[in-house]
Amino acid sequence: MDEFELIRRYFARAGRDPSIVLGIGDDGAIVRPDADRELVIVIDTMVEGVHYPAGLDPADIGYRAVAVNLSDIAAMAARPRWMTLALTLAGDDAGWLDGFSRGLFEAADEFSVALVGGDTTRGDQTVITVQISGDVIPSQALRRSGAKPGEDIYVTGTPGDAAAGLALWESNNVRNENQRQLLRRFARPAPRVELARELAAHASAAIDVSDGLFADIEKLLVASGAGGVIELDNLPLSVPLVAVHGKEAATELALGGGDDYEIVFTAASVKAPAIAKLAKRFSVPISKIGTVTRGDALHCTRAGRELAYRHAGYRHFVEASDD
Ligand code: ADP
Ligand code: MG
Repeated sequence: MDEFELIRRYFARAGRDPSIVLGIGDDGAIVRPDADRELVIVIDTMVEGVHYPAGLDPADIGYRAVAVNLSDIAAMAARPRWMTLALTLAGDDAGWLDGFSRGLFEAADEFSVALVGGDTTRGDQTVITVQISGDVIPSQALRRSGAKPGEDIYVTGTPGDAAAGLALWESNNVRNENQRQLLRRFARPAPRVELARELAAHASAAIDVSDGLFADIEKLLVASGAGGVIELDNLPLSVPLVAVHGKEAATELALGGGDDYEIVFTAASVKAPAIAKLAKRFSVPISKIGTVTRGDALHCTRAGRELAYRHAGYRHFVEASDD
């Protein structure tokens, strides 16, 4: 199958979006942004064997490639609009492409983002790059840099599940329903696009959780020039995660595991009732897990007692006094 046949068969869909003046087929796409909107542009690359295991269901790979980008759009409180796809293919597997494109369009349709162009090449390794443009009312985008001492730190969903799911899959250990649910959280991330757009009215800063909760909260705090405290007993641990790993390992996965694609945000304490209402409306847990402080360090406490958390190593938690 040549490149043009491949694009025609799997990626060129007749679009109905009137914002697309010219879609797939020319040298570039032409889109018409709404008047008086700022554009938010994000891009993410997934390398086979690095960002996802090669044998994952191709429909999940396609869905995930879009979802991880939508998570960045969500973290900015933007509305997704247009997407391009750069695909480097190692094989020529029609079955893979069929599944991949199905999963990709499943996510695209669910979140109303249109594929308007791309690039297709052959290489030694499958590499998938998705770029998404979104829009936002001027000055309404959420940034990492807005957190202020005294504010609360929140997280959506239940972090740690995706990392646990990936590890189970890699050790060929997905057998029961809890394990399947955890794998699904890796394979099908749930970008919090609509929820985050509503949060913009209440939050002061936001970041999406891709590298691990602790590390990503640190990034937000560095950008804000602040410190913070995470209370470990307030981490939202999912029922499957605790069932499979027990509470202690679940806590470590929640703090250090990656690929959650949840949103961390900060907000003044008066915003708590509005945030609780949004959690209910969207049926997504939103948990207050800590506080922004002065200074420049992020600490963990358990029942008020400080623990030192290390990013790597076998035992992540040590009593701060033993350090
Ligand atoms: P050019 O040689 O001008 O870069 P291409 O032959 O690479 O154009 O692509 C032809 C058309 O198909 C372009 O509109 C491009 O955006 C689109 N396209 C190429 N690959 C993909 C893909 N994987 N998904 C969606 N559109 C694609
Ligand atoms: Mg060209």
